[in-house]
Amino acid sequence: MIDDRPEFIQQHISLQPYNTFRFDYQAEYFALIESVEQLVDAVAWARYKALSITTLGGGSNLLLQGDVSGLVLINRMKGISRLAESASHVEVEFGAGEVWHESVVWAVEQGLGGIENLALIPGTVGAAPVQNIGAYGVEVKDAISSIKVFDLSDLTEQILSPGECAFGYRESRFKQEWRDRYIITSVTLHLQKQPSLMLEYGGLKNVVPDGAGIREVFEAVCEVRRSKLPDPLEIANSGSFFKNPVVDADTYHAIKAQFPNLVAFEQDGGWKLAAGWLNDQAGWKGYRDHGVGVYEKQALVLVNYDCDKANALLDLERRIKGSVLEIFGVELEREPVLLGAAQCQ
Ligand SMILES: Cc1cc2nc3c(=O)[nH]c(=O)nc-3n(C[C@H](O)[C@H](O)[C@H](O)COP(=O)(O)OP(=O)(O)OC[C@H]3O[C@@H](n4cnc5c(N)ncnc54)[C@H](O)[C@@H]3O)c2cc1C
Repeated sequence: MIDDRPEFIQQHISLQPYNTFRFDYQAEYFALIESVEQLVDAVAWARYKALSITTLGGGSNLLLQGDVSGLVLINRMKGISRLAESASHVEVEFGAGEVWHESVVWAVEQGLGGIENLALIPGTVGAAPVQNIGAYGVEVKDAISSIKVFDLSDLTEQILSPGECAFGYRESRFKQEWRDRYIITSVTLHLQKQPSLMLEYGGLKNVVPDGAGIREVFEAVCEVRRSKLPDPLEIANSGSFFKNPVVDADTYHAIKAQFPNLVAFEQDGGWKLAAGWLNDQAGWKGYRDHGVGVYEKQALVLVNYDCDKANALLDLERRIKGSVLEIFGVELEREPVLLGAAQCQ
């Protein structure tokens, strides 16, 4: 009977091991999902009980601020299959529960290019399109051929094209109006057989030797990232906490006149300001108080040293935003997805 809770669905489970900030809040119901069949069973039961459904991967782009009601699914749907091959590309379908970095390693080992700059980004393949992950001048949208989803509105599987997803800088429709509609079950990437390297960003040119291939780029990206970013297994964090704010030319020139060292990049007629630089100038780099802080090597990364709850981090976020607004007149926007019922403070 559909009323019977499938045995793989548990009740009142701590999400602490499932978010890289390691905040300790509970899921009302919880399941690890390893197949589409399990997904269908879990969704059917949740629908019958009128429960909301939240799908997570590695929890590395999450800010949990309270218990999560309804059913939390952790996507563990694995599998890598070569679907088609042309003279220049190979189409590869990755299960949404594959670990993103391991998928990059797989592609590099096969000699297939296009995602090597995205090495060491934590999390799963299924979450990669949600915020259109990007690093070192590459965004995942450029490698996506199609995305297989489970549509919660009619319980069917569908295939979406990248053009439908409104990909932008750390954005897509999955992060907005599709948030409660689609569960991504696999992502098909078109990977290059004769890779063209992207070395223009993050000083890669200076560390990648002449005549290098994707393996050398992959290794350089891993090395640079390890030297700059905290490993969530050692210090709890969710990577960049703020998006780089994009401002119009007048605002950029006004700030630049006052702060000549401003770090910014021209983009589509506007200017993308380095949020890490803004935080650094506002004096936050290395700040630590009440069990949370700002990473000492990168002021864009907020870290949790020893808090079980998110209150101190939310307070730190408010203070950083307030000071950046006061000094530069720029409003910072949070990058991780906020989840869970707000707690009284
Ligand atoms: C140290 C560190 C460095 C980072 N560096 C980068 C970086 O360079 N570039 C970058 O872009 N990001 C970076 N991130 C952020 C993060 O790694 C990515 O956003 C990653 O894609 C999140 O994957 P996840 O599986 O952990 O997603 P989760 O945190 O579990 O989920 C994130 C969002 O996606 C949704 N979601 C997850 N899986 C699915 C699914 N199958 N179907 C539908 N929705 C889903 C969730 O509901 C949630 O809204 C970094 C994070 C850390 C901790």
